[in-house]
Amino acid sequence: MDKGTFLAAVEAAGVVGEGGAGFPAHAKYAATAETVIANGCECEPLLHTDRHLMIHHADAVVAGLDLLGEAVGANRRVLAVKRKQVEAIAILRAAIGARAIELALLDDCYPAGDEQILTREVTGRSVPPQGIPLAVGVVVANVGTLVSAVAATEGRPVVAKTFTVTGDVARPGVVTAPLGTPLADCLAAAGGATLDDPIFVVGGPMMGRVVDDPAKFAAEVVTKTTGGLIALPRGHHLHLNATLGVDHMRARAEAACIQCRLCSDLCPRQLIGHPFETHRVMRAFASGRELEPGDGRQALLCCDCGVCEHFACPMGLAPRRINQAVKRALRAGDLKYEGSREIEDARTEWREPRRVPVRRLADRIGIGAYMDLPEHDLGRLAPTRVAVPLSQHIGRPAEPLVAVGDRVRVGDPIGAIPKGALGARIHASIDGRVESVGAAIVLAAV
Ligand code: SF4
Ligand code: SF4
Repeated sequence: MDKGTFLAAVEAAGVVGEGGAGFPAHAKYAATAETVIANGCECEPLLHTDRHLMIHHADAVVAGLDLLGEAVGANRRVLAVKRKQVEAIAILRAAIGARAIELALLDDCYPAGDEQILTREVTGRSVPPQGIPLAVGVVVANVGTLVSAVAATEGRPVVAKTFTVTGDVARPGVVTAPLGTPLADCLAAAGGATLDDPIFVVGGPMMGRVVDDPAKFAAEVVTKTTGGLIALPRGHHLHLNATLGVDHMRARAEAACIQCRLCSDLCPRQLIGHPFETHRVMRAFASGRELEPGDGRQALLCCDCGVCEHFACPMGLAPRRINQAVKRALRAGDLKYEGSREIEDARTEWREPRRVPVRRLADRIGIGAYMDLPEHDLGRLAPTRVAVPLSQHIGRPAEPLVAVGDRVRVGDPIGAIPKGALGARIHASIDGRVESVGAAIVLAAV
């Protein structure tokens, strides 16, 4: 398939990066690159979505990698997966057959699935600070995105998402749900929470979003980037950490940051050579100087992985959340990173011994007990009412193509990319009638 046809199909189908960021795939795949990497290295503890996709859709993962490699002109095609995924590896090997695709087997470390860490592992080259893998000739695509890209070439748009439901639920497993399905329905598909007053993580335990208000949880729906739903006890370490206020974090940083620099020494970005020392951001933040030129601006190099606060800091402080707060304030003031954009090789010497094993990480953050739960196939849900958000991606929200009262069928376009903007198309995820049009298009089965 020629590049133009492939990109047009991916754009028409509304494919976005399914690993979390939601970058529109047609824009990313328009690049030219030496290497393409299919990312099956899901590194968040407890999530099994990528494994499920690789086992059940191996042919599409491999075909998608070939299509992407052809489109960007890559001479190297790599499928990266953790070596512990023995069943998936055997199935992928069979799917690869005689194709010129390498399997890269990675250890079970966090954050192996981060695009920049994966690029370093596979190519030995580090993406410069504030850069993207394309800066070193690489395009990375999540395995789920590749499955969607292949479906796009067959005329099937993105209308559903597969993800993990786990934690304190009766039947943990992997579910497929139409876009806009209430997360409460997905919880019910897993037998419901086994706690009286749970809180939820939407996404993975390290980088996901905590929702602790039942009314807000009732409004949460499945999107193209939903990776997980985890039920945990109210007051769990992850709940308390996520709900610290900025003033409280500043008071704790001032009182208790001993400048031991463990947060910097274990930071995965620092360990690929970025001149990023998050203990310096902590120092600037503690003294209220984080927006001044200098150390505070380094917060813009943080990828929010959470190794610093969930694994490294001996004082129980929250460097990641502080970096997030500082980034928000810097962006609001249009203040930029002004430091070096060079890779400092000396920083990479400790990369191997300082990698973080996922199981130790899970124990450290209080989720070790959930690591070996059974993994049920929860099937595909068939909701009678969905609220499909017009913004499920990086870029401008889609513009509605339907009005209240219109009848739609699954796969009909209901949201268009604004002219000349970065964005993604949105499609009806169930057959039904348009009930309302706002930030989301509500569809009800008739
Ligand atoms: S690891 Fe914790 S105590 Fe040490 S410098 Fe970083 S934030 Fe401060
Ligand atoms: S969250 Fe912490 S460990 Fe991760 S990149 Fe940011 S500073 Fe480094």
